[in-house]
Amino acid sequence: MSIILGIESTAHTFGIGVVKDGKILSNVREMYTTESGGIIPVDSAKHHREIANDVYVRSLKDAEISENKIDAIAFSQGPGLPPCLLEGMRFAKFLCKKLNVPLVGVNHCVAHLEVGQITGAKDPVLLYCSGANTQVIAYAAGKYRIFGETLDVGIGNFIDNFARDAGIGFPGGPKIEKLALESKNYIELPYSVKGMDVAFSGMLTNLKQKLAKGEKMEDLAFSLQETAFAMLIETAERALAHVGKKELLLGGGVACNSRLQEMARIMCEDRGAKCFVPSRSLLVDNGAMIAYLGEIMLEAGLKFEVKDLNKIDILPRQRTDDVEISWK
Ligand code: AMP
Ligand code: MG
Repeated sequence: MSIILGIESTAHTFGIGVVKDGKILSNVREMYTTESGGIIPVDSAKHHREIANDVYVRSLKDAEISENKIDAIAFSQGPGLPPCLLEGMRFAKFLCKKLNVPLVGVNHCVAHLEVGQITGAKDPVLLYCSGANTQVIAYAAGKYRIFGETLDVGIGNFIDNFARDAGIGFPGGPKIEKLALESKNYIELPYSVKGMDVAFSGMLTNLKQKLAKGEKMEDLAFSLQETAFAMLIETAERALAHVGKKELLLGGGVACNSRLQEMARIMCEDRGAKCFVPSRSLLVDNGAMIAYLGEIMLEAGLKFEVKDLNKIDILPRQRTDDVEISWK
């Protein structure tokens, strides 16, 4: 029986969740947003610093527990933006010292995967579509292996970059989704799949050129979704076939998109696989998934006691396949 508090701060979101025996008791998040530009890492970190205590208090209140009931703190150790990661770690270590509890360093991408168990997925291929990360990941031979990934920018950053160019602000994904609903006019765009890898920069340049030439934003949003999501689903299907698994799990903020979810469900149905889509609050970056994996890791003994806190640091470039999985 343990109660874990998880802290997420890899990029734009500062979140704190509380998990007890695999059950989510709270999941509070605050997101750094802008009207027109993209994320400025130091500004996002400042946002996290300013909001941290407030999110902490609200998360404990939602969970209906007092802080002295917490058994361990987990935090997103990487991958992510260094200034943002540092704020999360700073707050995590502060709490560990204050409450005299151990610290667990969690890989953000593995947390997206493990929290999928809440939806019922047991051994899925994860199509992880977030801002900076776009990967097809599955557990094989003792590790989470990356079967395919973006060769340039992440799907979310690609969408946000185009949205920024079009002057519709950050995050662009939800706005593009809304615009796409206004059109059925498909304009051909570069489709770039290499095996199980994808690339978006060619499509981004092409979209910007088409926008400058006066193509309608609604048509471009629709065509962007149809093309980019078809690419992702193609790689996910190839990975399912390659590893012989029968479950697809969606993760990451872009997976909130209804059209991507629809395409994933159609593909899974066609090949007799199951499609699992976590609730929106677990798809986006959040503290509950960090607490969820934190609890699993704590039980496996993967923790740092207060006296050893100086031995743990952020890992901004940690890859999913760098993580030793000793709990499976
Ligand atoms: P994450 O990094 O996983 O928190 O996801 C953030 C990314 O998700 C940003 O790039 C958003 O633009 C994108 N996003 C959020 N909602 C949607 C949506 N409905 N459709 C497409 N992208 C979205
Ligand atoms: Mg994420």
